[in-house]
Amino acid sequence: MQYMTNKIGFIGLGVMGQNLVKNFADKGIEVVVYNRTKEVTESYLSEGVKGVSGAFSIEELIDSLQGPRIIMMMVSSGGVDSINTKLITQKLLQKGDIVVDLGNSNWRLTTSRQKIFEKEGFHFVGCGVSGGSEGALTGPSIMPGGDSYALNELLPLFEKVAAKDFSGRPCVTNVGTASSGHFVKMVHNGIEYAIMQVIAEIYGHLTDNNYTKSEIVDVIDDLNKTKLQSYLLEITSKILQTKKDGNYLINLIDPRAQGKGTGKWTVEAALDLAVPVPSIAASVFQRYISTKNDFIKTSDEIELVVTNDDTPVTTFDMTQALETIFRLIYLQGIELIAQADKEHDWGIDLREVVRIWQGGCIIRSRLLEDILDVFASDELFAGMKEAISLSQQAFTPLPAIRATLDYGLSLTSTLDEMAIIQAQRDYFGQHTYRIKGTQGDHTGGWTE
Ligand code: NDP
Repeated sequence: MQYMTNKIGFIGLGVMGQNLVKNFADKGIEVVVYNRTKEVTESYLSEGVKGVSGAFSIEELIDSLQGPRIIMMMVSSGGVDSINTKLITQKLLQKGDIVVDLGNSNWRLTTSRQKIFEKEGFHFVGCGVSGGSEGALTGPSIMPGGDSYALNELLPLFEKVAAKDFSGRPCVTNVGTASSGHFVKMVHNGIEYAIMQVIAEIYGHLTDNNYTKSEIVDVIDDLNKTKLQSYLLEITSKILQTKKDGNYLINLIDPRAQGKGTGKWTVEAALDLAVPVPSIAASVFQRYISTKNDFIKTSDEIELVVTNDDTPVTTFDMTQALETIFRLIYLQGIELIAQADKEHDWGIDLREVVRIWQGGCIIRSRLLEDILDVFASDELFAGMKEAISLSQQAFTPLPAIRATLDYGLSLTSTLDEMAIIQAQRDYFGQHTYRIKGTQGDHTGGWTE
């Protein structure tokens, strides 16, 4: 079958789609674009990009291409099924047509979509794309997975638009069969979550130690001259130099960090496959911690019991340390139950749950006597300094203790450093940020 590889269809002119289409067109590949909202298509076409033409319905897009066709889509996750349903139920495709989902779809959904397409004689490729909007334009990393017949047709196209590796080869490969492309992209995002989180933590740590913004920029720029040289450090330096109305923009950004689900899916996959990914899990949870905790006082109401001047003590009260650690573990479980109750409207009385755990069960403990009241008081954190001393003295792994400790420290902090995550997400993907104390989403304005 002879595919029309010099002309493709492209659905979705969002942040990513607009730039990826320009990238294809720039490499001499004609692109017919369609976007659900017609004004977006009209405005895009008015830019007059050479090699780009428009369609105002999916039918028109299909008609404008000779079969067998290559149709790519880069739409929000909800859009993929509605486009697929239309393509299949309205019998718009012909045998051999290749449909490529370039978005961040859940790899499990990709597997079921591939089966539906295969049954009809079509090909469905799940393809991860990374590089944010700038990468889409200048060269992204591309992670396609699916049947090798379709991938063989697609690879030459992708090679034209992909970034280059250290030795000049295109950053695209046949990742593997089925939904492996979307799986690999998901894990890429999981790693991205963890590296972003570590950078935010370093920023928070330096800020707590009274480094000025320009001193932090110097530290980051120095790191970036070493083997650590990386995109995320580069943009963090630029983010920290950005000012708005005389203030550092990072200080104005609401630190409640968002996500689109790929970090969560990575952790779910790791749980299913029994693979430890504690750094990724911690990063996903930290975004959750930054957004809420319904039980304890807000962080500015909590009397901080730990300061930077507190040096570790060599002897400490193990009882106090573990009281806090155990209570913070109960808190995690109780919050999970409360959230599930809210979601499913189960009518759970948490006091009753805690009461029936007081006897008989394996997690029974005297701590349960007043635990819900302690959650709402400073007593919850009374053993933090003791617990820190315990963790600082140990060179043995203390994963549960240290994770609990960080959870407690996070609950007593304003987590201002999480604004870095929001800033990075906006810098590379225009995912928007909020300004503290105001409504509405903002994007851009970063130092180049
Ligand atoms: P945008 O929000 O900028 O654009 C979303 C696009 O999807 C728009 O064209 C929108 O059309 C379309 N769309 C949404 N719902 C539907 C629907 N039901 N039917 C048809 N079209 C629909 O998103 P991005 O460009 O940022 O992201 C697109 C995909 O790429 C997502 O899966 C995202 O996760 C992934 N991605 C994003 C990256 C980023 O950095 N932003 C990086 C890598 C991947 P309309 O104009 O009508 O609303």
